[in-house]
Amino acid sequence: MIRQAKFLSVLCSLLIFSVTAIADAPLFAEVSKTPGLRWKKVTIPIAFSNSLIKTNPAVRPESDIQGAVRRSLDAWETVANIDFQVIWTDKLSVSPAGNAGDGTSLVTIAQTPENLLVFGGESAEISARTRVFFNRKGEISEADIILNPYQQFSTDGSAGTFDFESTLTHEIGHLLGLDHSSIIGATMNEHQGKNGIFNLSSFSPRTLSEDDISQIRAIYGARDEDDCCGAIDGKISLSNGKAAKGFNLWLEESETGRVVLGSKINPDGSFLLKGLPARKYQIYIQDSASNFSGQDLGEIEITKGRTTNLLRKIILSPRNFDAQFSGFNGQLSNLAVPINSGKSYLIYVGGKNLNPEDLKIGTTSPFITVSNGNFTKYDYGKEISVFSFENKNSGGNSGRRLYDLFAE
Ligand SMILES: [Zn+2]
Repeated sequence: MIRQAKFLSVLCSLLIFSVTAIADAPLFAEVSKTPGLRWKKVTIPIAFSNSLIKTNPAVRPESDIQGAVRRSLDAWETVANIDFQVIWTDKLSVSPAGNAGDGTSLVTIAQTPENLLVFGGESAEISARTRVFFNRKGEISEADIILNPYQQFSTDGSAGTFDFESTLTHEIGHLLGLDHSSIIGATMNEHQGKNGIFNLSSFSPRTLSEDDISQIRAIYGARDEDDCCGAIDGKISLSNGKAAKGFNLWLEESETGRVVLGSKINPDGSFLLKGLPARKYQIYIQDSASNFSGQDLGEIEITKGRTTNLLRKIILSPRNFDAQFSGFNGQLSNLAVPINSGKSYLIYVGGKNLNPEDLKIGTTSPFITVSNGNFTKYDYGKEISVFSFENKNSGGNSGRRLYDLFAE
Protein backbone atom coordinates (compact mmCIF):
# COMPACT_ATOMS: atom_id res chain seq x y z
CA MET A 1 0.00 0.00 0.00
CA ILE A 2 1.30 3.43 -0.82
CA ARG A 3 0.20 6.09 1.59
CA GLN A 4 0.95 9.62 0.62
CA ALA A 5 2.24 12.19 3.00
CA LYS A 6 3.50 15.67 2.48
CA PHE A 7 6.72 15.86 4.36
CA LEU A 8 7.61 18.93 6.24
CA SER A 9 11.26 17.86 6.35
CA VAL A 10 11.47 18.67 10.02
CA LEU A 11 13.82 16.35 11.78
CA CYS A 12 13.89 16.31 15.52
CA SER A 13 16.68 14.71 17.42
CA LEU A 14 18.68 14.90 20.57
CA LEU A 15 21.15 16.77 18.43
CA ILE A 16 22.50 20.07 19.33
CA PHE A 17 23.07 22.16 16.25
CA SER A 18 23.90 25.69 15.45
CA VAL A 19 22.20 28.20 13.24
CA THR A 20 25.47 28.64 11.41
CA ALA A 21 25.77 25.83 8.92
CA ILE A 22 29.35 25.08 8.05
CA ALA A 23 30.10 22.73 5.23
CA ASP A 24 33.32 20.77 5.14
CA ALA A 25 34.10 19.07 1.89
CA PRO A 26 36.38 16.03 2.05
CA LEU A 27 39.23 16.12 -0.44
CA PHE A 28 39.34 12.81 -2.20
CA ALA A 29 42.89 13.19 -3.61
CA GLU A 30 43.00 14.72 -7.05
CA VAL A 31 40.95 12.15 -8.86
CA SER A 32 37.18 12.14 -8.81
CA LYS A 33 35.72 10.11 -5.97
CA THR A 34 35.02 6.51 -6.78
CA PRO A 35 32.42 4.65 -4.80
CA GLY A 36 33.47 2.02 -2.32
CA LEU A 37 36.58 3.57 -0.78
CA ARG A 38 38.06 1.41 1.96
CA TRP A 39 41.26 0.49 3.72
CA LYS A 40 42.45 -2.91 2.52
CA LYS A 41 43.89 -3.86 5.91
CA VAL A 42 41.52 -3.19 8.78
CA THR A 43 44.35 -2.33 11.17
CA ILE A 44 44.81 1.34 10.34
CA PRO A 45 47.91 3.28 11.45
CA ILE A 46 47.21 6.89 12.35
CA ALA A 47 49.66 9.54 13.59
CA PHE A 48 48.61 12.46 15.78
CA SER A 49 50.75 15.58 15.61
CA ASN A 50 52.07 16.97 18.90
CA SER A 51 50.82 20.34 17.60
CA LEU A 52 47.43 19.23 18.97
CA ILE A 53 48.67 19.09 22.57
CA LYS A 54 51.32 21.84 22.57
CA THR A 55 50.31 25.41 23.43
CA ASN A 56 48.50 26.68 20.37
CA PRO A 57 46.01 29.54 19.96
CA ALA A 58 43.75 27.20 17.95
CA VAL A 59 43.17 24.95 20.99
CA ARG A 60 41.70 26.36 24.20
CA PRO A 61 43.96 25.78 27.21
CA GLU A 62 43.00 22.83 29.48
CA SER A 63 41.28 20.97 26.63
CA ASP A 64 41.27 17.18 27.04
CA ILE A 65 42.69 16.48 23.56
CA GLN A 66 44.11 13.03 24.31
CA GLY A 67 40.82 11.88 25.83
CA ALA A 68 38.89 13.27 22.86
CA VAL A 69 41.22 11.49 20.40
CA ARG A 70 40.69 8.17 22.17
CA ARG A 71 36.90 8.56 22.30
CA SER A 72 36.65 9.61 18.62
CA LEU A 73 38.52 6.49 17.52
CA ASP A 74 36.56 4.29 19.95
CA ALA A 75 33.26 5.54 18.52
CA TRP A 76 34.09 3.91 15.17
CA GLU A 77 36.07 0.92 16.51
CA THR A 78 33.28 -0.29 18.76
CA VAL A 79 30.72 -0.58 15.93
CA ALA A 80 32.82 -1.66 12.93
CA ASN A 81 35.45 -4.29 12.29
CA ILE A 82 38.45 -1.93 12.33
CA ASP A 83 41.36 -1.21 14.67
CA PHE A 84 43.46 1.94 14.88
CA GLN A 85 47.18 1.90 15.67
CA VAL A 86 47.92 5.28 17.20
CA ILE A 87 51.26 7.07 17.50
CA TRP A 88 52.08 10.66 18.46
CA THR A 89 54.64 12.48 16.32
CA ASP A 90 56.50 15.80 15.94
CA LYS A 91 55.47 15.86 12.29
CA LEU A 92 53.47 19.03 11.51
CA SER A 93 52.47 19.15 7.83
CA VAL A 94 50.23 16.86 5.81
CA SER A 95 51.17 15.43 2.41
CA PRO A 96 50.72 17.91 -0.43
CA ALA A 97 47.89 17.44 -2.93
CA GLY A 98 48.65 14.90 -5.63
CA ASN A 99 48.18 11.25 -6.35
CA ALA A 100 50.71 9.96 -3.82
CA GLY A 101 50.99 10.79 -0.15
CA ASP A 102 54.01 10.41 2.12
CA GLY A 103 52.74 7.17 3.68
CA THR A 104 51.74 8.68 7.04
CA SER A 105 48.10 9.37 7.90
CA LEU A 106 48.54 12.52 9.96
CA VAL A 107 46.08 14.47 12.13
CA THR A 108 47.42 17.98 12.69
CA ILE A 109 46.50 21.55 13.63
CA ALA A 110 49.93 23.13 13.05
CA GLN A 111 49.96 26.51 11.35
CA THR A 112 52.36 25.56 8.53
CA PRO A 113 52.07 26.93 4.96
CA GLU A 114 51.22 23.43 3.63
CA ASN A 115 48.35 23.00 6.11
CA LEU A 116 46.99 26.52 5.64
CA LEU A 117 46.73 25.97 1.88
CA VAL A 118 43.46 24.03 2.20
CA PHE A 119 41.74 26.82 4.15
CA GLY A 120 42.04 29.59 1.57
CA GLY A 121 39.14 31.82 0.53
CA GLU A 122 35.71 30.58 1.59
CA SER A 123 37.23 27.58 3.35
CA ALA A 124 38.58 29.82 6.14
CA GLU A 125 35.37 29.28 8.13
CA ILE A 126 35.23 25.49 7.99
CA SER A 127 36.36 23.36 10.92
CA ALA A 128 38.55 20.76 9.22
CA ARG A 129 39.51 19.00 6.04
CA THR A 130 40.42 15.40 5.28
CA ARG A 131 42.47 14.46 2.23
CA VAL A 132 42.18 10.82 1.18
CA PHE A 133 44.68 9.01 -1.05
CA PHE A 134 43.55 5.82 -2.78
CA ASN A 135 44.29 3.64 -5.79
CA ARG A 136 42.12 2.73 -8.77
CA LYS A 137 40.46 -0.08 -6.86
CA GLY A 138 39.35 2.43 -4.20
CA GLU A 139 41.83 1.10 -1.65
CA ILE A 140 42.90 3.88 0.71
CA SER A 141 46.63 4.12 1.38
CA GLU A 142 46.64 7.33 3.42
CA ALA A 143 44.26 9.95 4.80
CA ASP A 144 45.37 13.23 6.38
CA ILE A 145 43.19 15.36 8.65
CA ILE A 146 43.87 19.07 9.07
CA LEU A 147 41.97 20.93 11.77
CA ASN A 148 41.66 24.56 10.73
CA PRO A 149 44.35 26.53 12.60
CA TYR A 150 42.40 29.74 11.90
CA GLN A 151 39.57 28.45 14.12
CA GLN A 152 39.51 27.60 17.82
CA PHE A 153 38.68 24.18 19.26
CA SER A 154 37.75 23.11 22.77
CA THR A 155 36.43 20.11 24.66
CA ASP A 156 34.34 21.94 27.29
CA GLY A 157 31.62 23.46 25.12
CA SER A 158 33.09 27.00 25.22
CA ALA A 159 30.84 29.29 23.18
CA GLY A 160 32.20 30.30 19.79
CA THR A 161 34.59 27.34 19.50
CA PHE A 162 34.24 24.08 17.59
CA ASP A 163 33.95 20.95 19.68
CA PHE A 164 37.22 19.09 19.05
CA GLU A 165 35.76 15.61 19.61
CA SER A 166 32.72 16.18 17.36
CA THR A 167 34.93 17.52 14.56
CA LEU A 168 37.47 14.72 14.84
CA THR A 169 34.79 11.99 14.95
CA HIS A 170 33.36 13.38 11.69
CA GLU A 171 36.79 13.61 10.00
CA ILE A 172 37.73 10.06 11.09
CA GLY A 173 34.61 8.99 9.18
CA HIS A 174 36.14 10.54 6.02
CA LEU A 175 39.50 8.93 6.81
CA LEU A 176 37.70 5.58 6.82
CA GLY A 177 36.21 6.27 3.38
CA LEU A 178 32.78 7.73 4.22
CA ASP A 179 31.29 10.63 2.30
CA HIS A 180 28.69 13.01 3.72
CA SER A 181 25.33 11.66 4.89
CA SER A 182 22.00 12.97 3.62
CA ILE A 183 20.52 12.44 7.09
CA ILE A 184 20.19 15.64 9.07
CA GLY A 185 21.64 14.97 12.47
CA ALA A 186 24.09 12.22 11.46
CA THR A 187 27.70 12.74 12.56
CA MET A 188 28.60 12.52 8.86
CA ASN A 189 26.14 15.24 7.81
CA GLU A 190 28.12 18.02 6.18
CA HIS A 191 26.81 20.70 8.52
CA GLN A 192 28.39 21.28 11.86
CA GLY A 193 27.70 24.03 14.31
CA LYS A 194 29.90 25.84 16.79
CA ASN A 195 29.24 25.66 20.52
CA GLY A 196 26.94 28.28 21.97
CA ILE A 197 24.00 28.50 19.60
CA PHE A 198 20.73 28.26 21.59
CA ASN A 199 23.13 28.45 24.58
CA LEU A 200 23.97 24.78 24.07
CA SER A 201 27.15 22.80 23.41
CA SER A 202 27.70 21.04 20.10
CA PHE A 203 28.49 17.62 21.60
CA SER A 204 25.95 15.45 19.78
CA PRO A 205 28.07 14.53 16.71
CA ARG A 206 30.49 12.86 19.17
CA THR A 207 27.98 10.00 19.28
CA LEU A 208 27.39 8.11 16.03
CA SER A 209 23.83 7.96 14.74
CA GLU A 210 22.27 4.76 13.39
CA ASP A 211 22.96 6.10 9.90
CA ASP A 212 26.70 6.51 10.59
CA ILE A 213 26.84 3.01 12.10
CA SER A 214 25.09 1.37 9.12
CA GLN A 215 27.29 3.26 6.64
CA ILE A 216 30.54 2.16 8.27
CA ARG A 217 29.31 -1.43 8.74
CA ALA A 218 28.40 -1.51 5.04
CA ILE A 219 32.14 -1.13 4.32
CA TYR A 220 33.91 -3.02 7.10
CA GLY A 221 31.24 -5.20 8.70
CA ALA A 222 30.06 -5.08 12.31
CA ARG A 223 32.33 -5.58 15.31
CA ASP A 224 29.64 -7.76 16.87
CA GLU A 225 27.76 -9.79 14.26
CA ASP A 226 24.75 -10.50 16.53
CA ASP A 227 21.93 -8.70 14.76
CA CYS A 228 23.83 -7.42 11.78
CA CYS A 229 23.65 -7.06 8.84
CA GLY A 230 21.21 -7.28 5.98
CA ALA A 231 20.84 -5.22 2.82
CA ILE A 232 18.27 -3.77 0.41
CA ASP A 233 18.87 -3.67 -3.31
CA GLY A 234 16.25 -1.70 -5.21
CA LYS A 235 15.13 0.46 -8.04
CA ILE A 236 12.64 3.34 -7.97
CA SER A 237 11.04 4.69 -11.12
CA LEU A 238 8.52 7.43 -11.74
CA SER A 239 5.10 6.90 -13.29
CA ASN A 240 6.44 8.23 -16.64
CA GLY A 241 9.03 5.45 -16.64
CA LYS A 242 11.98 7.72 -15.82
CA ALA A 243 14.37 6.90 -12.99
CA ALA A 244 13.91 8.63 -9.61
CA LYS A 245 17.35 10.17 -10.10
CA GLY A 246 18.74 12.18 -7.18
CA PHE A 247 15.78 11.49 -4.87
CA ASN A 248 16.52 10.98 -1.19
CA LEU A 249 15.46 7.68 0.31
CA TRP A 250 15.45 6.85 4.00
CA LEU A 251 14.45 4.04 6.32
CA GLU A 252 12.76 4.35 9.67
CA GLU A 253 12.54 1.54 12.20
CA SER A 254 8.85 0.50 12.09
CA GLU A 255 8.57 0.13 15.85
CA THR A 256 10.05 3.47 16.89
CA GLY A 257 10.02 5.77 13.86
CA ARG A 258 13.77 6.23 14.31
CA VAL A 259 15.66 7.15 11.12
CA VAL A 260 18.21 4.38 10.58
CA LEU A 261 19.72 4.94 7.15
CA GLY A 262 19.48 7.37 4.27
CA SER A 263 20.84 7.49 0.76
CA LYS A 264 20.59 9.33 -2.51
CA ILE A 265 19.14 7.35 -5.42
CA ASN A 266 21.62 6.73 -8.27
CA PRO A 267 21.07 8.33 -11.71
CA ASP A 268 19.57 5.05 -13.03
CA GLY A 269 17.08 4.87 -10.13
CA SER A 270 18.94 2.12 -8.32
CA PHE A 271 20.15 2.02 -4.73
CA LEU A 272 21.93 -0.41 -2.45
CA LEU A 273 21.75 -0.08 1.31
CA LYS A 274 23.97 -2.32 3.41
CA GLY A 275 24.86 -2.61 7.07
CA LEU A 276 21.23 -2.71 8.27
CA PRO A 277 20.26 -4.44 11.53
CA ALA A 278 17.68 -7.23 10.97
CA ARG A 279 14.39 -5.46 11.64
CA LYS A 280 11.24 -4.10 10.00
CA TYR A 281 11.55 -0.71 8.37
CA GLN A 282 9.24 1.81 6.78
CA ILE A 283 10.71 3.28 3.59
CA TYR A 284 10.25 6.88 2.50
CA ILE A 285 11.35 8.85 -0.51
CA GLN A 286 11.39 12.53 -1.39
CA ASP A 287 12.93 14.50 -4.22
CA SER A 288 15.86 16.58 -3.08
CA ALA A 289 14.38 19.77 -4.55
CA SER A 290 11.26 19.23 -2.38
CA ASN A 291 8.91 20.16 -5.22
CA PHE A 292 6.88 17.05 -4.64
CA SER A 293 5.39 15.37 -1.64
CA GLY A 294 7.29 12.76 0.24
CA GLN A 295 6.05 9.22 -0.24
CA ASP A 296 5.73 6.25 2.01
CA LEU A 297 6.88 3.18 0.05
CA GLY A 298 5.61 0.72 2.61
CA GLU A 299 7.27 -1.69 5.01
CA ILE A 300 10.19 -4.02 4.37
CA GLU A 301 11.73 -6.69 6.58
CA ILE A 302 15.50 -7.06 6.63
CA THR A 303 16.97 -10.46 7.37
CA LYS A 304 20.51 -11.00 8.58
CA GLY A 305 22.91 -12.04 5.83
CA ARG A 306 20.36 -11.50 3.05
CA THR A 307 19.71 -8.86 0.43
CA THR A 308 16.02 -7.95 0.06
CA ASN A 309 14.89 -6.67 -3.31
CA LEU A 310 12.60 -3.68 -3.71
CA LEU A 311 11.11 -2.40 -6.97
CA ARG A 312 8.69 0.51 -6.85
CA LYS A 313 7.02 2.89 -9.25
CA ILE A 314 5.92 6.16 -7.68
CA ILE A 315 3.34 8.73 -8.68
CA LEU A 316 4.42 12.22 -7.74
CA SER A 317 1.94 14.66 -6.34
CA PRO A 318 3.04 18.28 -6.52
CA ARG A 319 2.71 20.34 -3.40
CA ASN A 320 2.33 24.02 -2.89
CA PHE A 321 4.39 24.48 0.25
CA ASP A 322 8.02 24.00 1.18
CA ALA A 323 9.33 23.77 4.73
CA GLN A 324 12.95 24.88 4.60
CA PHE A 325 13.92 25.71 8.17
CA SER A 326 13.24 24.65 11.73
CA GLY A 327 14.42 25.82 15.12
CA PHE A 328 13.57 27.12 18.58
CA ASN A 329 13.36 30.41 20.40
CA GLY A 330 12.54 32.25 17.22
CA GLN A 331 15.77 31.05 15.60
CA LEU A 332 15.55 29.09 12.37
CA SER A 333 18.16 26.89 10.68
CA ASN A 334 18.40 24.20 8.02
CA LEU A 335 19.68 21.78 10.64
CA ALA A 336 18.12 19.37 13.10
CA VAL A 337 16.65 20.74 16.32
CA PRO A 338 17.60 19.10 19.62
CA ILE A 339 14.87 17.57 21.79
CA ASN A 340 15.26 15.66 25.01
CA SER A 341 13.12 12.99 26.60
CA GLY A 342 10.29 14.08 28.86
CA LYS A 343 10.28 17.67 27.68
CA SER A 344 7.96 19.84 25.64
CA TYR A 345 9.21 22.16 22.96
CA LEU A 346 7.90 24.96 20.86
CA ILE A 347 9.26 24.09 17.42
CA TYR A 348 9.50 26.80 14.76
CA VAL A 349 9.06 25.97 11.08
CA GLY A 350 9.81 28.37 8.24
CA GLY A 351 9.46 28.16 4.48
CA LYS A 352 7.30 28.96 1.51
CA ASN A 353 3.50 28.99 1.66
CA LEU A 354 3.26 27.52 5.14
CA ASN A 355 -0.24 28.26 6.24
CA PRO A 356 -0.94 26.43 9.51
CA GLU A 357 -4.68 26.43 8.78
CA ASP A 358 -4.03 24.13 5.81
CA LEU A 359 -1.55 21.86 7.57
CA LYS A 360 -1.80 18.96 9.95
CA ILE A 361 1.44 18.01 11.65
CA GLY A 362 2.08 14.33 12.32
CA THR A 363 4.91 12.18 13.58
CA THR A 364 6.10 8.68 12.77
CA SER A 365 7.33 8.09 16.32
CA PRO A 366 5.21 6.73 19.18
CA PHE A 367 7.43 8.76 21.54
CA ILE A 368 6.54 12.13 20.10
CA THR A 369 3.21 13.91 20.31
CA VAL A 370 2.29 17.04 18.43
CA SER A 371 -0.60 19.22 19.48
CA ASN A 372 -2.44 20.23 16.34
CA GLY A 373 -4.58 23.32 16.34
CA ASN A 374 -2.12 25.06 18.61
CA PHE A 375 -0.18 26.90 15.95
CA THR A 376 1.17 30.42 16.25
CA LYS A 377 2.04 32.44 13.16
CA TYR A 378 4.88 34.95 13.05
CA ASP A 379 5.86 37.75 10.73
CA TYR A 380 9.38 37.24 9.40
CA GLY A 381 8.85 39.34 6.27
CA LYS A 382 7.34 38.64 2.89
CA GLU A 383 9.91 36.07 1.74
CA ILE A 384 9.11 33.44 4.33
CA SER A 385 6.15 32.15 6.33
CA VAL A 386 6.87 31.01 9.88
CA PHE A 387 4.76 29.28 12.53
CA SER A 388 5.39 27.27 15.67
CA PHE A 389 3.76 24.20 17.21
CA GLU A 390 4.13 22.30 20.45
CA ASN A 391 5.96 19.00 20.53
CA LYS A 392 6.53 16.59 23.41
CA ASN A 393 9.11 13.81 23.52
CA SER A 394 8.33 10.99 25.93
CA GLY A 395 10.95 8.54 24.60
CA GLY A 396 13.75 7.04 26.64
CA ASN A 397 16.94 9.00 26.66
CA SER A 398 19.15 6.24 25.31
CA GLY A 399 21.19 7.35 22.36
CA ARG A 400 20.38 9.71 19.60
CA ARG A 401 17.04 9.60 17.90
CA LEU A 402 15.95 11.11 14.64
CA TYR A 403 12.31 11.45 13.82
CA ASP A 404 10.30 12.96 11.07
CA LEU A 405 7.30 15.12 11.44
CA PHE A 406 5.04 15.38 8.46
CA ALA A 407 2.20 17.52 7.29
CA GLU A 408 -0.87 16.27 5.50
ZN1 LIG B 1 32.87 16.31 6.14
